[in-house]
Amino acid sequence: MIPVKGYAAQDAQTDLAPWDFQRRDVGPNDVQFDVLFCGVCHSDLHQIKNDWFPGIFPMVPGHEIVGRVVKVGDNVKNFKVGDLAGTGCLVDSCQVCENCKKDLEQYCLEGNTATYNAMERDGSSPTYGGYSNSIVVREEFVLHISDKLDLAATAPLLCAGITTYSPLKHWKVGKGHKLAVLGLGGLGHMAVKFGVAFGAEVTVLSTSPKKEADAKKLGAHKFVVTTDAEQVKAARGSFDFILDTVSAAHDFNMYLGLLRTDGTMICVGVPPKPAEVAAFSLLGGRKSLAGSGIGGIAETQEMLDYCAEHNIVSEIEMIDIKDIGSAYDRMQQGDVRYRFVIDIATL
Ligand code: NAP
Ligand code: ZN
Repeated sequence: MIPVKGYAAQDAQTDLAPWDFQRRDVGPNDVQFDVLFCGVCHSDLHQIKNDWFPGIFPMVPGHEIVGRVVKVGDNVKNFKVGDLAGTGCLVDSCQVCENCKKDLEQYCLEGNTATYNAMERDGSSPTYGGYSNSIVVREEFVLHISDKLDLAATAPLLCAGITTYSPLKHWKVGKGHKLAVLGLGGLGHMAVKFGVAFGAEVTVLSTSPKKEADAKKLGAHKFVVTTDAEQVKAARGSFDFILDTVSAAHDFNMYLGLLRTDGTMICVGVPPKPAEVAAFSLLGGRKSLAGSGIGGIAETQEMLDYCAEHNIVSEIEMIDIKDIGSAYDRMQQGDVRYRFVIDIATL
């Protein structure tokens, strides 16, 4: 076993604190890489607080992981010691079901293996995430990271990046479309960058008027303050797509009213409680309500390569791991500019 230093929540009531644990030895098909940076996703906070389901504790969060390879198994073909490497939200899947065969490992019919707060495929070994100094992952779930981009600012691409890239690609959002990005946080700011890069007219729908200048700097064409009834009224019936990245309860019916006829609202945010949706909100204007989960491994690599080519990274605030608690507090208040990234050297 490999000794690893990490930060863990011992239960849903306790703050994260240093925790030493062990990872499996590097098997023939595994890559071990030392973690250099790890992004802080709102999903980390949801999971340590049991927002979605009872978690597996101790929990080491973190699924926006980048670092440098230190060891590879005998059968590993695509990585060598010294390479940059990354891992997102997935570390395994069955690899044989219909969805895995279509490069949709996130929708593995036997259930994917999440990077933390899950069990390995043996059903009994917990997975531990990137708030730690080293990780062992089977080769198929390790991504190549370009050395052209700032490494710390690349980490958030592994979740916030792919989670917004994938639906925009799936629904072919681009030129001629009016895209609204709902919520300007970690996912939202990446959605703005991709939406603009794909040629859509992008509007940010935000509860935070003070984010307007940032939204414009990110490339957004318009900004609507959703707590201002007049601005919301003026935006009714105007969007082809709304990409909903909101982490807390919000009124789906109000936002569905902002879609044009045949428009689609795509949920990627995961508030703890189910939302109420009136059939009338959908049938008036033949609207669709859809969802999308992260992305498959091949598409994640495609997104990373696209970002390297187009010089797209996340806007980050680097933090020491001991400041993770105050970063979570700011995240809860919607005050993320626009992704916290942990410098793992501070562990
Ligand atoms: P984040 O950085 O905290 O951003 C969320 C943003 O939502 C906030 O900055 C805020 O933006 C807005 N917001 C917060 N509370 C709101 C409220 N009550 N009403 C309206 N807007 C509100 O979070 P994130 O890391 O981007 O994650 C967002 C959500 O996506 C989380 O639920 C996370 O678990 C989920 N997620 C899903 C997937 C997937 O595969 N589908 C992957 C990763 C994350 P404004 O200040 O602009 O209003
Ligand atoms: Zn995430």
